[in-house]
Amino acid sequence: MHPDVAALLAVQTDDIEIHGLEERLAALLPRLEAMTKEHERAGVALEQARQAVDAEERRQRDVRGRVDQFKQLEERNQAQLNTVTSAREATAATAQLDQARKMMGEAQRELDGITNRLGDLRHAVTDRDHALRDVERAQRELRESLDADRTAIEAQLADLRARRGERAQKVPRGLLQRYDRIRSGKRVHAVFPLRGHSCANCDTVIPLQRRSAMAGSGATEVCEGCGVLLYAGE
Ligand SMILES: [Zn+2]
Repeated sequence: MHPDVAALLAVQTDDIEIHGLEERLAALLPRLEAMTKEHERAGVALEQARQAVDAEERRQRDVRGRVDQFKQLEERNQAQLNTVTSAREATAATAQLDQARKMMGEAQRELDGITNRLGDLRHAVTDRDHALRDVERAQRELRESLDADRTAIEAQLADLRARRGERAQKVPRGLLQRYDRIRSGKRVHAVFPLRGHSCANCDTVIPLQRRSAMAGSGATEVCEGCGVLLYAGE
Protein backbone atom coordinates (compact mmCIF):
# COMPACT_ATOMS: atom_id res chain seq x y z
CA MET A 1 0.00 0.00 0.00
CA HIS A 2 1.20 3.50 -0.82
CA PRO A 3 2.36 5.38 2.31
CA ASP A 4 0.04 8.30 1.48
CA VAL A 5 -2.93 5.94 1.49
CA ALA A 6 -1.76 4.36 4.73
CA ALA A 7 -1.49 7.81 6.30
CA LEU A 8 -4.99 8.70 5.06
CA LEU A 9 -6.42 5.45 6.45
CA ALA A 10 -4.94 6.31 9.86
CA VAL A 11 -6.77 9.66 9.72
CA GLN A 12 -9.97 7.88 8.73
CA THR A 13 -9.66 5.49 11.68
CA ASP A 14 -9.56 8.50 14.02
CA ASP A 15 -12.43 10.22 12.21
CA ILE A 16 -14.67 7.16 12.52
CA GLU A 17 -13.90 6.92 16.23
CA ILE A 18 -14.50 10.66 16.68
CA HIS A 19 -17.82 10.34 14.87
CA GLY A 20 -18.91 7.53 17.21
CA LEU A 21 -18.02 9.56 20.28
CA GLU A 22 -19.79 12.64 18.92
CA GLU A 23 -22.94 10.59 18.42
CA ARG A 24 -22.74 9.28 21.98
CA LEU A 25 -22.28 12.85 23.24
CA ALA A 26 -25.20 14.08 21.15
CA ALA A 27 -27.38 11.33 22.63
CA LEU A 28 -26.57 12.50 26.17
CA LEU A 29 -27.57 16.11 25.63
CA PRO A 30 -31.34 15.62 25.14
CA ARG A 31 -31.45 13.58 28.34
CA LEU A 32 -29.65 16.32 30.28
CA GLU A 33 -31.89 18.98 28.75
CA ALA A 34 -35.04 17.00 29.57
CA MET A 35 -33.91 16.75 33.19
CA THR A 36 -33.18 20.47 33.36
CA LYS A 37 -36.66 21.23 31.97
CA GLU A 38 -38.34 18.83 34.41
CA HIS A 39 -36.51 20.51 37.29
CA GLU A 40 -37.45 23.98 36.04
CA ARG A 41 -41.11 22.99 35.71
CA ALA A 42 -41.22 21.71 39.28
CA GLY A 43 -39.53 24.92 40.49
CA VAL A 44 -41.95 27.14 38.58
CA ALA A 45 -44.95 25.20 39.93
CA LEU A 46 -43.70 25.70 43.49
CA GLU A 47 -43.06 29.41 42.92
CA GLN A 48 -46.56 29.88 41.49
CA ALA A 49 -48.11 28.14 44.51
CA ARG A 50 -46.10 30.40 46.86
CA GLN A 51 -47.22 33.51 44.97
CA ALA A 52 -50.85 32.39 45.22
CA VAL A 53 -50.44 32.08 49.01
CA ASP A 54 -48.86 35.56 49.20
CA ALA A 55 -51.70 37.09 47.19
CA GLU A 56 -54.34 35.42 49.33
CA GLU A 57 -52.58 36.58 52.52
CA ARG A 58 -52.61 40.16 51.25
CA ARG A 59 -56.34 39.82 50.60
CA GLN A 60 -56.78 38.42 54.10
CA ARG A 61 -55.06 41.44 55.65
CA ASP A 62 -57.26 43.83 53.65
CA VAL A 63 -60.49 42.08 54.64
CA ARG A 64 -59.40 41.83 58.29
CA GLY A 65 -58.86 45.59 58.25
CA ARG A 66 -62.39 46.06 56.88
CA VAL A 67 -63.87 43.74 59.52
CA ASP A 68 -62.15 45.82 62.22
CA GLN A 69 -63.51 49.05 60.73
CA PHE A 70 -67.06 47.67 60.60
CA LYS A 71 -66.70 46.46 64.19
CA GLN A 72 -65.79 49.97 65.35
CA LEU A 73 -68.66 51.37 63.30
CA GLU A 74 -71.02 48.88 64.93
CA GLU A 75 -69.81 49.91 68.39
CA ARG A 76 -70.30 53.60 67.60
CA ASN A 77 -73.80 52.92 66.24
CA GLN A 78 -74.62 50.84 69.31
CA ALA A 79 -73.47 53.69 71.58
CA GLN A 80 -75.55 56.13 69.55
CA LEU A 81 -78.60 53.91 69.91
CA ASN A 82 -78.09 53.92 73.68
CA THR A 83 -78.29 57.73 73.83
CA VAL A 84 -81.34 58.36 71.60
CA THR A 85 -84.18 60.36 73.10
CA SER A 86 -86.93 59.95 70.48
CA ALA A 87 -88.54 57.13 68.53
CA ARG A 88 -87.45 58.76 65.26
CA GLU A 89 -83.80 58.85 66.39
CA ALA A 90 -84.13 55.25 67.57
CA THR A 91 -85.35 54.12 64.14
CA ALA A 92 -82.49 55.92 62.38
CA ALA A 93 -79.83 54.58 64.77
CA THR A 94 -81.21 51.02 64.48
CA ALA A 95 -81.05 51.24 60.69
CA GLN A 96 -77.42 52.39 60.86
CA LEU A 97 -76.57 49.61 63.29
CA ASP A 98 -78.22 46.99 61.05
CA GLN A 99 -76.31 48.33 58.06
CA ALA A 100 -72.98 48.14 59.92
CA ARG A 101 -73.74 44.59 61.09
CA LYS A 102 -74.72 43.54 57.59
CA MET A 103 -71.44 44.86 56.13
CA MET A 104 -69.48 43.23 58.91
CA GLY A 105 -71.24 39.92 58.27
CA GLU A 106 -70.35 40.09 54.57
CA ALA A 107 -66.74 40.89 55.30
CA GLN A 108 -66.59 38.09 57.86
CA ARG A 109 -67.95 35.59 55.31
CA GLU A 110 -65.37 36.79 52.79
CA LEU A 111 -62.69 36.29 55.44
CA ASP A 112 -63.92 32.72 56.11
CA GLY A 113 -63.70 31.95 52.39
CA ILE A 114 -60.13 33.31 52.28
CA THR A 115 -59.15 31.22 55.31
CA ASN A 116 -60.44 28.06 53.58
CA ARG A 117 -58.68 28.90 50.34
CA LEU A 118 -55.44 29.65 52.20
CA GLY A 119 -55.55 26.17 53.74
CA ASP A 120 -55.79 24.62 50.25
CA LEU A 121 -53.14 26.92 48.81
CA ARG A 122 -50.68 26.13 51.63
CA HIS A 123 -51.26 22.42 51.05
CA ALA A 124 -50.42 22.97 47.39
CA VAL A 125 -47.13 24.65 48.39
CA THR A 126 -46.23 21.67 50.58
CA ASP A 127 -47.13 19.19 47.81
CA ARG A 128 -45.14 21.04 45.19
CA ASP A 129 -42.19 21.43 47.52
CA HIS A 130 -42.20 17.65 47.99
CA ALA A 131 -42.55 17.14 44.26
CA LEU A 132 -39.50 19.35 43.61
CA ARG A 133 -37.46 17.40 46.18
CA ASP A 134 -38.55 14.12 44.59
CA VAL A 135 -37.39 15.36 41.18
CA GLU A 136 -34.07 16.49 42.65
CA ARG A 137 -33.52 13.18 44.42
CA ALA A 138 -34.39 11.16 41.33
CA GLN A 139 -32.20 13.32 39.11
CA ARG A 140 -29.14 13.52 41.33
CA GLU A 141 -27.73 10.09 40.57
CA LEU A 142 -28.70 10.10 36.92
CA ARG A 143 -27.22 13.55 36.41
CA GLU A 144 -23.96 12.55 38.07
CA SER A 145 -23.68 9.50 35.86
CA LEU A 146 -24.52 11.46 32.69
CA ASP A 147 -22.08 14.22 33.63
CA ALA A 148 -19.36 11.63 34.24
CA ASP A 149 -20.08 10.06 30.82
CA ARG A 150 -19.95 13.44 29.15
CA THR A 151 -16.68 14.42 30.80
CA ALA A 152 -15.10 11.10 29.82
CA ILE A 153 -16.30 11.37 26.22
CA GLU A 154 -15.11 14.97 25.91
CA ALA A 155 -11.67 14.01 27.21
CA GLN A 156 -11.46 11.11 24.73
CA LEU A 157 -12.57 13.43 21.93
CA ALA A 158 -9.92 16.01 22.78
CA ASP A 159 -7.19 13.33 22.64
CA LEU A 160 -8.49 11.86 19.40
CA ARG A 161 -8.79 15.24 17.69
CA ALA A 162 -5.22 16.07 18.66
CA ARG A 163 -4.02 12.74 17.27
CA ARG A 164 -6.10 13.21 14.14
CA GLY A 165 -4.48 16.61 13.62
CA GLU A 166 -1.00 15.09 13.83
CA ARG A 167 -1.86 12.22 11.53
CA ALA A 168 -3.47 14.56 8.99
CA GLN A 169 -0.16 16.40 8.60
CA LYS A 170 1.35 13.25 7.13
CA VAL A 171 -1.24 13.14 4.32
CA PRO A 172 -0.55 15.18 1.15
CA ARG A 173 -2.68 18.30 1.19
CA GLY A 174 -4.61 17.61 -2.01
CA LEU A 175 -5.50 14.08 -0.97
CA LEU A 176 -6.62 15.25 2.46
CA GLN A 177 -8.81 17.94 0.88
CA ARG A 178 -10.47 15.37 -1.41
CA TYR A 179 -11.07 13.12 1.58
CA ASP A 180 -12.47 15.96 3.72
CA ARG A 181 -14.79 16.99 0.88
CA ILE A 182 -16.20 13.47 0.59
CA ARG A 183 -16.66 13.25 4.35
CA SER A 184 -18.33 16.65 4.60
CA GLY A 185 -21.34 15.12 2.85
CA LYS A 186 -22.06 13.38 6.19
CA ARG A 187 -20.29 10.26 5.00
CA VAL A 188 -18.50 8.61 7.90
CA HIS A 189 -16.47 6.13 5.92
CA ALA A 190 -14.88 7.78 2.87
CA VAL A 191 -11.94 5.58 1.83
CA PHE A 192 -12.43 2.01 0.62
CA PRO A 193 -10.13 -0.57 -1.00
CA LEU A 194 -10.81 -2.25 -4.27
CA ARG A 195 -12.31 -5.65 -3.67
CA GLY A 196 -11.47 -7.80 -6.63
CA HIS A 197 -12.51 -5.71 -9.64
CA SER A 198 -15.00 -3.58 -7.74
CA CYS A 199 -15.51 -0.82 -5.21
CA ALA A 200 -15.74 -2.42 -1.76
CA ASN A 201 -18.48 0.04 -0.80
CA CYS A 202 -20.91 -0.20 -3.73
CA ASP A 203 -19.64 -3.08 -5.88
CA THR A 204 -19.34 -0.93 -9.00
CA VAL A 205 -16.85 -2.61 -11.30
CA ILE A 206 -13.75 -0.48 -11.96
CA PRO A 207 -12.26 -0.83 -15.48
CA LEU A 208 -9.04 -2.83 -15.72
CA GLN A 209 -7.06 0.13 -16.99
CA ARG A 210 -7.90 2.29 -13.99
CA ARG A 211 -7.26 -0.58 -11.59
CA SER A 212 -3.84 -1.17 -13.10
CA ALA A 213 -3.02 2.52 -12.88
CA MET A 214 -4.04 2.60 -9.21
CA ALA A 215 -2.05 -0.49 -8.39
CA GLY A 216 0.99 0.85 -10.25
CA SER A 217 1.11 4.37 -8.83
CA GLY A 218 -0.60 3.89 -5.46
CA ALA A 219 -2.94 6.73 -6.45
CA THR A 220 -6.52 6.98 -5.24
CA GLU A 221 -9.57 7.35 -7.49
CA VAL A 222 -13.09 8.53 -6.79
CA CYS A 223 -15.64 5.72 -7.35
CA GLU A 224 -18.11 6.69 -10.07
CA GLY A 225 -20.77 4.60 -8.38
CA CYS A 226 -20.82 6.00 -4.86
CA GLY A 227 -18.27 8.81 -4.70
CA VAL A 228 -15.88 7.33 -2.13
CA LEU A 229 -12.07 7.31 -2.52
CA LEU A 230 -10.75 3.98 -3.74
CA TYR A 231 -7.25 2.56 -3.40
CA ALA A 232 -5.69 -0.64 -4.60
CA GLY A 233 -5.44 -3.05 -1.69
CA GLU A 234 -2.63 -5.51 -1.13
ZN1 LIG B 1 -18.35 2.80 -4.89
